[in-house]
Amino acid sequence: MAKLVAGGVVLRNQINGRWAGRDKRSDGWIADSNHSRTSDHAPDKDGWVHAIDIDENMGKGKWRNGRAARKLADQLRLYAASDLPGADRLKYIVHENKLASGTYRRTWWKWRPGNWGHEYHIHVSFTSKAKKDERVFPLPILTKDRKLKKLWWEQLRG
Ligand SMILES: [Zn+2]
Repeated sequence: MAKLVAGGVVLRNQINGRWAGRDKRSDGWIADSNHSRTSDHAPDKDGWVHAIDIDENMGKGKWRNGRAARKLADQLRLYAASDLPGADRLKYIVHENKLASGTYRRTWWKWRPGNWGHEYHIHVSFTSKAKKDERVFPLPILTKDRKLKKLWWEQLRG
């Protein structure tokens, strides 16, 4: 049985909680015909799926402008580049033809423009660290609690 890594489940739940009733038409997790079988959406030998797609429309069916999704993608990137606990769960992020990863020192978690696609959703790939790590993602955009939002911003900015 394929299963999504714990970090992916937590992140998706946080996003669903923040934007209840959001558009999910471009959501996904397990590989379908849109994805190569070697992508992080394909289950590994133990059945773990290491990626999720989040529809970039956070409105209720009605297109809003994608601003929230751009902020979300950028805060994921900032978190990944931090040394906060659980940041090592993130492998790479793709959104609107920009990719960010920790693969190369020179471009360490910087947006790299290119022909990366993903114009309707944010793709998030997870490392094996995400399999069991259920910590919440401390992304300011994911909470409406003002105190927590402030704290998370302070942590993200180091
Ligand atoms: Zn994807």
